[in-house]
Amino acid sequence: MISGRTLLKEMAAQTWEGLGMPGRYRRCAKGAVRILTYHRFGMGFRRDFAGCLDIARFREHLDVLERGYAVVPLEAAIALSQSGRGLEASGKPPVSITVDDGFEDNYELAFPELRRRGLSATFFVVARFIECGEVPWPSRLRAIIAALEKLDLGKGQSLSVSNSEEEQAAGTMLFERLKATDPEDRLAFLDGLERRNDLAEVRSRLRPMTRVQLREMAAAGMEIGSHTMHHSVLSAVRPEIRGAEIVNSRDAIAKMTGRRCRFLAYPDGKANREVAAMVRTSGYEAAVTQEWGLNLGSPDPFLLQRIEVPYYETAAVYSARVAGLLRPWGRRSDREEGAASSEPGAPAARW
Ligand SMILES: [Zn+2]
Repeated sequence: MISGRTLLKEMAAQTWEGLGMPGRYRRCAKGAVRILTYHRFGMGFRRDFAGCLDIARFREHLDVLERGYAVVPLEAAIALSQSGRGLEASGKPPVSITVDDGFEDNYELAFPELRRRGLSATFFVVARFIECGEVPWPSRLRAIIAALEKLDLGKGQSLSVSNSEEEQAAGTMLFERLKATDPEDRLAFLDGLERRNDLAEVRSRLRPMTRVQLREMAAAGMEIGSHTMHHSVLSAVRPEIRGAEIVNSRDAIAKMTGRRCRFLAYPDGKANREVAAMVRTSGYEAAVTQEWGLNLGSPDPFLLQRIEVPYYETAAVYSARVAGLLRPWGRRSDREEGAASSEPGAPAARW
């Protein structure tokens, strides 16, 4: 069953589409440089693939973009945002596609579709995920919670996670606790959770892209950027850890791809001026947040805003969202529909 909110949004989006509103809005937000965020891709909708956008829907999204926008590489989008011009020579507003985290499905499903259409995108990868399969910790935490009814935390403590509200509450609590923790301690905590709850195979289902795949994608015109070493929330960790996350991932990714690593996406989308300054002085050319926005009027290239695409978005809602007609509301952590689990059987998408 689809939630009332999802249904209402679909009806509104269809009406707007019929009235030509996305097209008008697209043209009147002059100078806007839109940067879209995707994460994972799948085939069809399956509970154990929650968080994965069906590749058939991704094709519909790309159709929407090709009709109304000029899909440009991130480098070009940034240059346009700095010029304040926005519009490409084609007369269509520019949009750039980004994909976070570095899962294998990015290569297997999204990359062939982009290449077939001659489109480019930027893939922000977590360096340790590619190097040694260390799954980005929020994805691992989400998978652990989704696999269980009850979470054994050790020392006699446990948490019930038998429905989506409990999953959301437990996920948020553990996310907040872990985001300020040093990477090694966080890893030990998650290892302990998996061991106590007998979940050794959970991680094996979360596979990264390989170096060979990244090189092939880079050679085909895709940009490979950094999403740090361990998916650390840079505004939350200690300054020494922060510096290592920014610099070591830059070097590791350059080594993997044989090309300079020029862009960074802040894990959990969070950044502040201090973090942005550190990224700038580390030799990156720009960085993207997860703050919602259309990048109007020469924005700070190290605090670029993006539009996050929920993993079940239909073409009509997507068209309204990319135009800027659908804005998120409330706190960042609960303003996206993914967090409200509005698709049948879907555990919470983000913390
Ligand atoms: Zn991420």
